[in-house]
Amino acid sequence: MLSVNFWGVRGSTPCPCDDNRRYGGNTACVVLASPGRDPIVLDLGTGLRFFGDTIGADTVFKASAFVTHLHWDHVQGLPFFVPINRSGAEIDIYAPAQDGVSVCDAFGEFMRPPYFPVRTSDLAGTVRFHDVSNTEVTVGDARVLVRDVPHVGATNGYRVTVDGVSVAYLSDHQQPTEDASQVAPSVLELCRDADLVIHDAQFTPEDFAAKSTWGHCTGQYAVEVAAQAGARRLALFHHDPSRGDAAVERLLAEAQVLGRQRGLEEVIAASEGLSISVSPRRPATNGVEKTSAEPAAAPLRTNGAVPRRVTTA
Ligand SMILES: [Zn+2]
Ligand SMILES: [Zn+2]
Repeated sequence: MLSVNFWGVRGSTPCPCDDNRRYGGNTACVVLASPGRDPIVLDLGTGLRFFGDTIGADTVFKASAFVTHLHWDHVQGLPFFVPINRSGAEIDIYAPAQDGVSVCDAFGEFMRPPYFPVRTSDLAGTVRFHDVSNTEVTVGDARVLVRDVPHVGATNGYRVTVDGVSVAYLSDHQQPTEDASQVAPSVLELCRDADLVIHDAQFTPEDFAAKSTWGHCTGQYAVEVAAQAGARRLALFHHDPSRGDAAVERLLAEAQVLGRQRGLEEVIAASEGLSISVSPRRPATNGVEKTSAEPAAAPLRTNGAVPRRVTTA
């Protein structure tokens, strides 16, 4: 069983306010955890800091982090991630190089004075950077498929397969401007038959009409991707910072109607603090596949960490 813990679900910029209490205000950070394995972190947005708060000072932190791209909302949590500033801690950060600039050099540009007083090389723990695109990475017994995703600048999507389940993560995805039934082959490969797809759903159709080249997509397009790929379950992600809880609920309701029509088992909207467990697909019974991806009934531990809030979706 794999637990998927959402520590930050927003796109663009942190946006804590009363209107966003239910879905949260921190930017992209999702942690995949399963017993006996080091966590796999998806993006290093501001949600990362809260994940760090749950790791005990006596825990020697070791993890791999797969970063989709280097926009602020996906990297800003690293400077405030306390567990990596402890002796013996290690993190391997995988991300796409940017226009010939290595991931190591790109992080070195934003995490240095005068933008921040500490460089990654000053930390007590060890940070290793890896440039990855269109490849497959093995982390322990987990396989991570790396593929291009249309966005603004070099951007990866990831598909993590471990414990018999596959989770696809596409945080930022440019919807085609002309034909919303088109899905890039690399995207379909990432999402094919996945147990859970975590996908950009930043825009309403009205937003998209006004911002059609900003690198994002509608909730409807997220359903299109998941349905074409034959995925089981979809988590809408990267909520627009201006979208309050009620507006996220409306966007979710529309996507759920569409998801049912397109044969998805479930569509949820990711919320900060949500932890869901994903189990392997059960054998067919009377020709009917039963869902085994259920909301966690109790807090799930992640490398000593417990999500602050476990919500049924
Ligand atoms: Zn983003
Ligand atoms: Zn972006």
